[in-house]
Amino acid sequence: MTSKPTTGPKEPIALVWFRRDLRVNDNSALHSALETGLPVMALYIHDQQGVREIGGASAWWLHHSLHALECELGKLGSTLHIANGSTEDVLKELSTVHKIAEIYMSRSYDSDAALLEQQVHDTFASQQISVRRFAGALLFEPELIHRDNGQPYKVFTPFYKRCMSHLSPGRATATAQDGLWFSSDNPLFVSLDSLGLLPLKPDWSAGIAREWTPGEQGAQERLEEFIERGLINYKLGRDIPAEDGTSMLSPHLHYGEISPRAVWHRIEQAVDDLPHRKEGATAFLRELVWRDFAHYLLHNWPEMVDQRFRPEFNAFPWLENKAQLRAWQRGQTGYPLVDAGMRQLWQTGWMHNRVRMVVASFLVKHLLQHWQHGERWFWDTLVDADQANNTASWQWAAGSGADAAPYFRIFNPTLQSTRFDPQGDYIRCYVPELSALPAKYIHEPHKAPDDVLSEAGVALGETYPHPIVDHKAARERAMAAFRGLPKREK
Ligand code: FAD
Repeated sequence: MTSKPTTGPKEPIALVWFRRDLRVNDNSALHSALETGLPVMALYIHDQQGVREIGGASAWWLHHSLHALECELGKLGSTLHIANGSTEDVLKELSTVHKIAEIYMSRSYDSDAALLEQQVHDTFASQQISVRRFAGALLFEPELIHRDNGQPYKVFTPFYKRCMSHLSPGRATATAQDGLWFSSDNPLFVSLDSLGLLPLKPDWSAGIAREWTPGEQGAQERLEEFIERGLINYKLGRDIPAEDGTSMLSPHLHYGEISPRAVWHRIEQAVDDLPHRKEGATAFLRELVWRDFAHYLLHNWPEMVDQRFRPEFNAFPWLENKAQLRAWQRGQTGYPLVDAGMRQLWQTGWMHNRVRMVVASFLVKHLLQHWQHGERWFWDTLVDADQANNTASWQWAAGSGADAAPYFRIFNPTLQSTRFDPQGDYIRCYVPELSALPAKYIHEPHKAPDDVLSEAGVALGETYPHPIVDHKAARERAMAAFRGLPKREK
């Protein structure tokens, strides 16, 4: 390794501004900065101005991810400089002290982050500091995908077909290795701990910490584990919440600890090694394209973040019921699959996709609560909370999204439970007060005979709630509300 930290204030340097690309491998911005031959300064700015406040679980992840990046950069002989405050102020201050020749960054697709990028570009370009942006957070750049008439897609399937027939995900760039590094002891820089990202009073993070290893190495390990245990059976296994059937890469992808294109190419290689994996791999890669699609939708319709995509939903008769919202958040609805999902979320910062769909449908259709209540709760509690994926998925569940679930698709939480968790293994794990119930009754404890309940130690209304709504009545109420909407606009 030729790298050596240098500190001369007047020599020209290249600055790599890390954001949601917290990795040293396959990071085109970092790679290109090192290739200039200039000493490279690695910088992270914790800028909370003008952006949505980061959720608690996601903040926990960010802390550990930055720590992992510090370690990775340390192995290369570099330092991660951390600043707290307005990006423009920090960069301006640094440019008065150091001779910044070039700023390198990975492209963001969220509207706030993209706006900030543009501001930085405009400010520094006028000072003859070149600002260079690199792709890497998505498989396909949104501008490249459009219908024949130039309009963006609103529906996933044609979007997917277009991606598959016309494009291929970019190649991963090489591992950051040799290069010159620059380190500064400017008082502007702060310690990671001082960002206050970790919960202290109380510290609720033990369950999350047990489940996850944030950082680039954790992401690589998770991917390899998935290829070994989950990929071959992914098509079916992805729907069974009690199994380790999915990759659990979502928080790693969100923070850019691994790039989707690196995942894509590694999966293709895994199929070359073992062709039986093909079916699972095709289904898995399609999900990665769903991730692109969510970002594509927000890129083209940024107002989707806080407004329904379909205007007819302005007239939807949402209800306000704080007690029911709280019961949903706490996993106390009396529907065991819903409760298991909400408790998995609270304990581990993640929820299985099948169960996310069921709990979301339950909130917006059975309880008629506004999808934004659910979106906000997920934002605060998910380690993979992601503006694009979360908004697009909640609008999908509510029926107000671009390619949304049809209004008459109202998941029956009991049928979903018997179908995807037949023995109740997932429920037993997260709703332990029901664990002694036989599989026949675990999906609907309120229908169990008294002797079965008492033998299992369940006292309805005391140890576990009665259902907070009746499924049939709730379904009819939701159907009436949806039917009452003005005709769908195309
Ligand atoms: P895998 O099945 O292994 O899939 C691989 C990757 O593909 C995922 O890591 C993810 O990046 C992407 N992906 C999978 N399914 C979807 C999908 N439906 N939409 C978009 N991308 C997908 N995902 C988030 O990353 N952040 C969120 O905030 C988020 N909120 C959601 C809210 C609701 C109401 C619903 C129904 C889904 C939400 N999802 C969200 C999508 C999906 O549930 C998660 O991406 C998935 O469960 C993550 O687990 P995994 O990594 O094991 O997925």
